[in-house]
Formats: sequence, structure tokens, C-alpha cells
Amino acid sequence: MSSNPLEKKIGILGGGQLGKMLYQAATPLGLDIHFMDQSKEFPVGRICPNFIEGSFKSYEDVMAFGKDKDVISIEIEAVNVEALRDLEKSGKDVFPQPEVIALIQDKGEQKQFFEDINIESPAFSLVESLEDLKEKIEEGSIQYPFVQKLRRDGYDGRGVTVIKTEGDLSTAFDAPSVIEDLVNIDKEISVIIARQSDDSIAIYDPVEMVVDPNANLLDRQIAPAAISSQLAAEAKLIASTIAYELQIVGLLAVEMFVDTEQRLWVNELAPRPHNSGHHSIEACHTSQYAQQLRAIVGLPLGDTQLVSPSLLMNILGEPGHTGPAFYEGLESCLALSGVHVHIYGKSITKPQRKMGHINIVDHNLDSAKEKYDLIKSSLKVISHG
Ligand code: ADP
Repeated sequence: MSSNPLEKKIGILGGGQLGKMLYQAATPLGLDIHFMDQSKEFPVGRICPNFIEGSFKSYEDVMAFGKDKDVISIEIEAVNVEALRDLEKSGKDVFPQPEVIALIQDKGEQKQFFEDINIESPAFSLVESLEDLKEKIEEGSIQYPFVQKLRRDGYDGRGVTVIKTEGDLSTAFDAPSVIEDLVNIDKEISVIIARQSDDSIAIYDPVEMVVDPNANLLDRQIAPAAISSQLAAEAKLIASTIAYELQIVGLLAVEMFVDTEQRLWVNELAPRPHNSGHHSIEACHTSQYAQQLRAIVGLPLGDTQLVSPSLLMNILGEPGHTGPAFYEGLESCLALSGVHVHIYGKSITKPQRKMGHINIVDHNLDSAKEKYDLIKSSLKVISHG
């Protein structure tokens, strides 16, 4: 195993857009980075020669992929943790550590962890099934309104449902879930932190995430978040406490709610680059992707400072369109100054699928918002197929 950070052989499980942006961040440093995911048609497979096909959920595939790597990391949490534990036992660096991934894979354990370390997160209870949920409502230990979240495998709002009255129970999940108090949300924010094993950390300023209530997906992200400096400092302290308690090596995104009384509640964690940090590619001195690579190979962490305000939007597949993707209106977006387009390279578009993102870097957020409105009304991912 090489001890020179620049010579370490890095293996990433997952080959989607986050992997693609990790690959792009690895090239300026000349890092030796490899990926595994199911198909060469995925975003990384299309551009990176060091890509092998395999399942990150399979014990055998993960072991085979990891055996000649020095550092193994992830761009998605739903990986085979047993294999990662065994790779760690065999002396490999696995960052984030398998224990951290296991904790975050289960929203129930995540909530318990927040409680154990005295981090404020909406009050919760656990249910095993719809029947169990109904029984607990009947006996009064669960009361309307509440949020139900699948303990495992939910993402991008799929696996989250708000139950306000008995009538909403028809949308409830029949699976092990977390039942959570509904927060009166004023703003959703996110803080991204990087930590290394020597306890060095680098924290990005909080950003605001505006969620599209219909798609339950990020509509736009605003950097910096319009919150008081005191609240921003509090949010950063919470993120660093969690990173320290987890002893995580690598990036950690901490999603939080600011309620209408300006109180902070931790929602959930992601131990990897995150949608709320895409702006850092153009708007910060060090992108979250470069930061992740620095953190896991042991290079000094970079400056997280925001160089310019920015507004980030996801490019989502147009409802009603499934098939080969066509980016209608892209030329007019590219003609705008400060507009950085990232197309992920997914060949097939589907309704609400994340096909890319745009980061609008501007001298002020009002002017960025004007460009956002223009792009929102002109850019559409459609399919003629
Ligand atoms: P996912 O892992 O799918 O992103 P989240 O836990 O982030 O799921 O929930 C998705 C969205 O649902 C959040 O961004 C927020 O808008 C809403 N939400 C989640 N939990 C609560 C809560 N306790 N109170 C109010 N809204 C919530």
C-alpha cells in the first residue's frame, strides 16, 4: 500500500453523477481513481477508462473491486457494508468507515444516534408495519400530524410521506419506518463538513435548499443561506459535533430545518458529496469533490470559502417524457454569463429524473434569480422517443 497520498489507488463504489464529478476533481491532481457500477452507460462509465461493471450491493463484487485498492469510498450509501468491513479488516482504508455507512443506511439508527449525542432532531418513534402504526395511533402514542419515513432505501423524498389526518393513512407505508414530529419549517439548510483522521476539519457555509413540494426534490439551492450569523455558527457547530462523534473520515452533509422560531433541527445525514454542495465546484475555492478526495487520501483540506454568491438548480426530466434525452433551450442558457451547466450524461430521461444541474454564479443573488427564472421557463429535458 502506498503511503504517498498522491499515489494511492482509490476505488469508488457507484458511477452516477456524484462519481462523475469526483472523477473530474481527481484529474487536476493526477489521482489514480477507479469506479464500479452496473453499467458502462452510467455517467462515470461514459467518460472514465478505469470503470468496471459490477454491483456495489454484491459482497463478491465489492471484495473483488477493493482488493487492489488502497482507499475505498462511496458515492451512494446503499452498498454492501459486510464487504467493506472485511476490506477494512484486511488493512484497506475504507472512508467513510463501514460503521458510519451502516448507521446512515438506517434512518431509525440515525435518529437514535442524534438522541444519544444530544443533537436536536424532531421527536420520533419506530414502527414495524402499517398495522403497528395504526395500533400506536389508536392507543395514542402516535398523534397526527406526523411524517413517516422508510427506515431503509428512501431517497430524494421517495420514502417520505406526511400524514396529517386519518384520511392520509392511505398513503402510509407498510414497512419498518420512523415516525417523526412535523416541523414548522421556515427554511431547509445544509452544512457540508470534511474531516480527516487527525481531527482536522473544513466546513462550508450553510446553504439554503428550497424544496419543490410536488416533486419533494431540491428546486434550487442558495449560497449563502439567508440566516443570521449566529444561526450559521450554530449550524456549523452542530455539523462539527456530529462529524466528531461519528469520527468520520471524508465528507458529511448535515441537512437541517430552521423552524418558524428560528430553532435548528437536524433532519438527516449523507456521508458523501451531496446535491446541496454542487455549487462549490464554481462558487468556492475548493469543491466538495476535491475536498472529499483530499480527505480520504490524506492531503491537506482546502479552503471552503464562498468566492461568490450562487444559485443552483437541478435539471429534472420533464413530466410525461421517457426516452432518449434532448435538452431543449440549452443554447440560450449557455449564452448567459456566470451560468455553469453540468449535464450528467444519462442517456434516458424520465419524469423528475436528475439529468444535470446548473450553477449560477453572480455578484448578487437578485441577479442570479433573474437568470434562474429565465432558465426555469426555457430549459426542458424532453424525449422525442
Ligand atoms: P430524503 O432522504 O428522501 O431526502 P428527507 O428526510 O430529507 O428524505 O425528507 C424529504 C423532505 O420532506 C424534506 O426535505 C422536508 O421538506 C420534508 N420533511 C422531512 N422530515 C420532515 C419533518 N419532520 N417535518 C416537516 N417536513 C419534513
